[in-house]
Order: sequence, then structure tokens, then C-alpha cells
Amino acid sequence: MYAQVIVDIQNDAVDRVFDYLALPDTKIGMRVSVPFAGRTVLGYVIGLSETTSFDAAKIKSIKKNLETVPRLKGEILELCKFMARHFFLRLSDTIRLALPSCVWLDSERAQINYTCSLIFDIDTAINMIGKRAKSQLAVVSFLNDQGEAEYLKLVELFGRTSVNAVIEKGIVSKNGVRKLRKPEIEQTKLEKHTLTKAQDNAVKEIVNSEQTFLLHGVTGSGKTEVYMSVIEKALAENKTAIMLVPEISLTPQMMQRFNSRFPGHVAVLHSGLSEGERFDEWERIFSGEAKVVLGARSAVFAPIENVGVIIIDEEHDSSYVSETNPRYFTHDVAQFRAKYNHCPLVLGSATPSLESYKKAQDGEYKLITLTERVNNLEMPKIEIVDMLNEVLDGNTSPYSKKLIAKLDECIKNKKQAILFINRRGFASFVMCRECGYRAKCHFCGKRYRMLTNCPNCHSNNIKYGALGTERVCNDLQKMFPNVPIFRMDNDTTRGKNGHKHILEQFSSVSPSILVGTQMIAKGHDYPLVSFVGILDADVSLYNSDFKSNERTFQLVTQVAGRAGRANNDGYVILQTYAPKHYVYRFATNYDYTSFYEKEVNLRQTTGFPPYSTIVRILVSSTSDNRAIEVTKKLYDNALKLKEKYGKQIIFLQAMPSPVKRIQTKYRYQILARYTPNDDITNDLFKVADVIEKDVSIFVEINPNNLR
Ligand code: ADP
Ligand code: ZN
Repeated sequence: MYAQVIVDIQNDAVDRVFDYLALPDTKIGMRVSVPFAGRTVLGYVIGLSETTSFDAAKIKSIKKNLETVPRLKGEILELCKFMARHFFLRLSDTIRLALPSCVWLDSERAQINYTCSLIFDIDTAINMIGKRAKSQLAVVSFLNDQGEAEYLKLVELFGRTSVNAVIEKGIVSKNGVRKLRKPEIEQTKLEKHTLTKAQDNAVKEIVNSEQTFLLHGVTGSGKTEVYMSVIEKALAENKTAIMLVPEISLTPQMMQRFNSRFPGHVAVLHSGLSEGERFDEWERIFSGEAKVVLGARSAVFAPIENVGVIIIDEEHDSSYVSETNPRYFTHDVAQFRAKYNHCPLVLGSATPSLESYKKAQDGEYKLITLTERVNNLEMPKIEIVDMLNEVLDGNTSPYSKKLIAKLDECIKNKKQAILFINRRGFASFVMCRECGYRAKCHFCGKRYRMLTNCPNCHSNNIKYGALGTERVCNDLQKMFPNVPIFRMDNDTTRGKNGHKHILEQFSSVSPSILVGTQMIAKGHDYPLVSFVGILDADVSLYNSDFKSNERTFQLVTQVAGRAGRANNDGYVILQTYAPKHYVYRFATNYDYTSFYEKEVNLRQTTGFPPYSTIVRILVSSTSDNRAIEVTKKLYDNALKLKEKYGKQIIFLQAMPSPVKRIQTKYRYQILARYTPNDDITNDLFKVADVIEKDVSIFVEINPNNLR
């Protein structure tokens, strides 16, 4: 039997598949070690066959099967192959994606909970070891006293060599029961609601179908209840479910709700887990013990079988596109799995991405709408405050009088408030505080010129950069000395349970104020929050990419959606220097469809996605010269495509990145915009698919963020 093996050689641009002689127990999907160019390297068996097209006499044998049960089951291996084709990735890279590194490396840390015990009675064991191997004798006598011990504990006490020796001699077992670590979860029993008519209809439509649904439901319309009901139905049919959320560690509530509804069945996969925890959760899924996988983007690769539904919550969220190599779109991966399993895929959001909503309009997805909040709750009122008027009135602080008044009222009513500070993207915009003039950077990648005076009114009252959360907290503490104020941003949420901690503290006292960045916008459901203030909405509006309108609309809607979730007392103040902007007009009316119409028309007339495809090839290096050199070389090759495709290519240019230097790296980019065409995409990938010494090259399709 011959095995087709992908040889995993890092820093190699292409996949190398070779035939090797299979060992008796070699199976498809196994990791193996194989001889390669005088070394022993890691490989994955991706196929088995009776024959080979190579010279059979020259074919070498697999050295060792590295596992007894293949870690890459059929569906996941197929998925990897699909991804390699679809996203122009190396197959070995997709396999690395599908297997978390802890599984992949089978590292010592992942074995922490292997338990060792004696296989023979102590006298036999001593006889088998002999009198001289003192430390081996110590191991068995320790085990005789203790009954059993953790493998790593033994290693710590007696050294790895002697522990491994008694295991290899067959005196001590290591494959004893492994105790799985479970991430800490509270078991709160939350009540199960009777579905509203709208929710019930949604559930009925989704269950047993094989379609992709776009569930567009306003914040607080009970989407999560719909997901849970659909999952419940899948479990009742002995199927499983995958539920993806932007970043589960941000939403401890979601974990609670799922654990309460599906006790013992839920496995969570997210970046906040320790390596050991992740390994164990993975094993619980792999073994079939866990039936519901709840996790961030990478949970879409969970080795779960017989999937009955896949859900992508907050489907518009940019975290579903990986920002690092190898790049993939979670939606496409989920869609592949849904097709493979003949199950529905549900994309849910209060603010669907333009692409998804267009697909729903075009009939590719089936649209389900939940137009109202449950329990007859109204959407919170969003009031726009024109900050230019404040300036003209002599108030140059970041807080409008109205905002302070509303905050004060909220505190007096012993309710909770959330103040949101926009921190999206890189360069905050540059603005004149006297007349409101903004230096705006366009998609072409041009950078802001550093202004000292306003080109419009010549004032030198120019505002750079974003507000800091810390500063806002200090200001508020002075205004409300007796009110607990919590800060949630990248600095305060380090550590495993950082987010959870802050949210717990905030939600347990009232009145209280939570000041935070983007991370407070996501899915929180705290009933006492009545006031939300958006301090500087414009920051994301004047970001330099085609998605800035869309992103701002999403942000305003999502942040506002945190208010008034249990009582009809939600109120939102949106501070802006562009009070007439259509993004705000539609957002304050919760008018997604009008926003969509307007925006999609704009994209069409200006030729931006989804009416075009944008590809960015990012070239970076610690050597500025090398980066320039390689960029030029790639650009020359890219220019040849202009001859091949003519007018289909709308824009093609090389330039420094908007942020030209990040840490020690100089960054240049080639931007291409063209009428959607897979051949062009493919050709651009080929242009970028070169190995250059000391230079890294990274390709993105429709980048979320240009920096
Ligand atoms: P969404 O995910 O759309 O923001 P949720 O599912 O979080 O909405 O629901 C909002 C709130 O309403 C939650 O506190 C939830 O427990 C509650 N809720 C949802 N559905 C119902 C229902 N059918 N009856 C009563 N309360 C509900
Ligand atoms: Zn000015």
C-alpha cells in the first residue's frame, strides 16, 4: 500500500506530495514521520492507494505513524483541500489551521493529565527493573504508595529518563485515564423562554433545511433564543451544532446561556483558553462527548461530526476574516461544512454586512427578519448632538452638555451607563475644532498631511488622535466622585478572565459607568443599562477604507443596542461633527434597509466591493531597500495583468502603506481593484507567490483594514 504524504516543510511556497510505503496501520488523515532529503520530517497522509506512478523500487517507507487514530477525519481533510483550492493556500497550512497547535505538536503540556500507574505488583516490578536502576525503582515504589500519579509529576520528581524507561519496559502504564480540564464555568440555571411568534417562525423555517439563512434581527429581538432552539432541535435528532461568535471571551454571558441550556454538552474554543484547556476541549469534541461547539472563528474547524446546524452570530464582525496568514473567510468555510453535512447555515446580525445582505437580496441566502424587540420593548432613542455647536458655544471638552445631563439623570435613577470610545483602525482623523474641517484620506492609500493650521479657517485648534479611555475615566470620576467607574480596553482586559471580571463588577453595582472601546459593543445583555453615550462616532467614519460607512453604521447600532434591554428607558447620545451624515440619519432611525440601499448604490457607482474585488499585496521587511525592491518587482509582474485583462482592472498601484513602519518593519503595498473575476484573483496570487529573502509578502482580498 502506498501513502500520499504531504511533507510539511516550512518556508516552502508549494505543497509537496510524495508517495511512501505505508506501514500496516497507516490510515488517511494520520500524521507520520517520513525520511526526506536526508532528514526526518513531519507529514500528513492525504491518500492511500494500491499503486504508485513512481518507480516502486525507489519509494521509501514511512518511518513511524505518529498517532493511532487519525486526527484529521474525512470531513476536515476534505475541508482542508477545499480551503487550499478556494483561498490559494498550501494544504499543509490549512491542516495546521484545522489542528490547533497543541494537538498538532502533541506537546508535553498537552499531556499534563496523563496518569501513570503500576501494571504489575511491586515485587514483580522491582524484579523487572533490577537492583541498580535506583531512580526507576524510586518511580515504582512511589507509584506503589500513591496508587497513581500524573505523568508530569513523576517526571518532575524522578526525571524524564527514568519515568520513560519504566513506561517503555511496560512496567508502568501511561495511557491511564486522562482527566480532562474544563474551562471554569458557572452553572446558573437561566429560564427558557416561550418563543414569540416571530422567533417560532424563524426556528421552523431554519430547522431541517439545507439553506443559508440571513437572520436580520434588531438588537434584543431574541436571535440568541432562536439559535438555541434550533440547536436544541438538532440535538434531539442526535446531531451536533457549531455556534461561532466574534470573540467568546468578550461575552461570558453567551457561555452561561449555552451551559444553562445544554449542560454538559458544550465545548468552548477561544483564545482565552490555556493550551491544556484547548487541547482537552478539542479532545472532548473529537471523541464525540461534546455536542455543541461554541467558539470564535477557528471553532469552524472543530472536529465535530454529524453537524445539524452551523450558526455565525454577529456575522458582520471583522474577526471572521483572519488577519494573519493563512487567510480565510469563515463564512465560506462554514458554508462548505453546511453543504457537506446537509444542514442549515445561519448568519445572524442586527447589522448584516453589505455582502451578506446583497446575497439575501439576490436570493442566494434566505432572509428572515425580526423587526421588534421581545417583550414589546422599544428601541432606545438615539439623539444626535452636533459637537461643532458645542465648540461654538465655548465647550471644547469631549463631553456635550446634553451628554452630561443625560448621564446625570441615569445616575440619579440608579441605573447603569456605558460610554463608548471609538478606537477602530489606525490613524484617527485630523480635524479643525473651530470650523469642523476634516483632512480626509481616500482609499488610494494617501496619507494625511500633518496639519498645523486649518486650511479652511486657518485656526490652529487642530485635533489629532483619539480620546483615551483613561482620560475619560478620570474626567468622569471628577464629575461623579461617588459612582464606580469601570474601564474596559486592551490595557485593562489582559489576562484570562479580564473581560469577565470587569463586566461582572460593572453589572453588579448600580449606579455605575462602564467606559470602553469597541469591545463593549458586542452582544452584552445587561438589563440595568439605560444610557449609552457615543463620544466620538466620527473616528470610524473618516477611516480610510471603503467599509468605513458600513462599519460606523454597525457600531452605532450595536453600541446603542446595549441600552434599554429590559425596560423602556434606553437613551443614546451620539456626538458628532457630521450630524447630517446619512450614516447617522439612518442609524438613529434603525433603518437598516435604507442605509443598505444608499450604500450599495454608492459602491456600485464608485466601483467598490461587492461590485469589485480589491486585492492588497503587502510587502514588509526590516530593510527598507529590500521592501522597495521586492515591491517594484511584484508590481512589474502585476502590470502585465493589465495587458491581459485590460479595462477589467480598474486600479493598480504600488505605494507605501498608510502606516509605513510598524515596529521594525517597513511596509509597502500593491493595491488592485477589478471587476470580480477569479482568474484575476488567481493571477494576482501567483504574482505574490514568491519567496524573497528577508521579506514577507501577504495577500488580502477585500481587506477590512488598510494600515
Ligand atoms: P439578541 O440576540 O437578538 O440581541 P437575545 O436573544 O439576547 O437577543 O434576547 C434579548 C433578551 O430578551 C434576553 O435577555 C433574552 O433572555 C430575552 N428573550 C429572548 N426571547 C425571549 C422570549 N421569547 N420571551 C421572553 N424573553 C426573551
Ligand atoms: Zn478650520
